[in-house]
Amino acid sequence: MTDLSIVVPLYNEEDNVPLLHAAISGALADFPRVYEVVLVDDGSKDATFDAAVALVRRDPRVRVVKFRGNYGQTAAMAAGIREARGDIIVTMDGDLQNDPLDIPDMIRLIDEGHDIVVGWRKKRQDGGMRVFVSKVANRIMARLMGVAVRDSGCSLKAFRSILIKQLPMYGEMHRFIPALSRLAGARLAQVEVRHHPRQFGVSKYGFSRIYKVMLDIISIRVLLSYVRRPMAWPRLLIALVTALGIAAVIAAVVNGGIALPMLAIGSLLLSLGLFLLGWAVIGQMLASLSDNVSSFAILGAKLSNAIRHEGEER
Ligand code: UDP
Ligand code: MG
Repeated sequence: MTDLSIVVPLYNEEDNVPLLHAAISGALADFPRVYEVVLVDDGSKDATFDAAVALVRRDPRVRVVKFRGNYGQTAAMAAGIREARGDIIVTMDGDLQNDPLDIPDMIRLIDEGHDIVVGWRKKRQDGGMRVFVSKVANRIMARLMGVAVRDSGCSLKAFRSILIKQLPMYGEMHRFIPALSRLAGARLAQVEVRHHPRQFGVSKYGFSRIYKVMLDIISIRVLLSYVRRPMAWPRLLIALVTALGIAAVIAAVVNGGIALPMLAIGSLLLSLGLFLLGWAVIGQMLASLSDNVSSFAILGAKLSNAIRHEGEER
């Protein structure tokens, strides 16, 4: 029986792995519950895997998942979460920038009834430009998603496993977990956490991340509103464009002869209407394929049920 799983994605972190293990063991030395550490080697090209296996030999609480290639941080987190056996799952970076000393506080907040606890790197130890960009991104996300999370990108988070195991995770999705959790009606808490400068190894991201994250924000936002009411506004647009097109064609042919420019405008509008219609149909099909809305709602119901039955289940 495992109470807590700590999931750590690792890509080329050979020097950090033993120190990370020492830091976790130290931070949880007096922790009164059974925990495990799930290390996910995301196809490292250095000796990260060997370092992780050395830990498994020494400490039965450590488990390792090894990817055959570099699938990215989100995929590594998702794999670790899938492997995790604890009722509570904590995710954190493996580069010692997050500090396991913050874990007990986060667990306490989960015990108090929160489904997700998000760290806030108040005194962040990264370059000024990165911190600025990240602040702007968090503001935009708060506006677009309606979730006022200060630091969505902070990897140090704690979850009830019933929540995190059922959230969708792809792309750079791990940054959107707080927003998605909110969709399920999850109870969210934020807590200030420590943050250290990277000592060994290098950051795995450059500025291309800004672009990817922006795209993800837009696509998730569009998806969410589209999935709720797929045909709502395209329908109006299609009707308008098509009506204008028909009017133009009629105007082009009424006076006996055919007014070519007007006819051209009419056919253009009509084809635009057709194009929009096709687009709306695809949207409708996508919406009916995905069960996003209901699955978030069901997840929310499960969260509260689990709380109500807690006494009975344990
Ligand atoms: N990471 C990973 N796969 C990747 C990139 C990163 O598993 O393709 C891990 C990395 O080893 C670290 C965490 O994700 O444990 C965060 O990465 P990093 O420290 O490079 O990001 P930053 O702190 O610069 O945002
Ligand atoms: Mg880092």
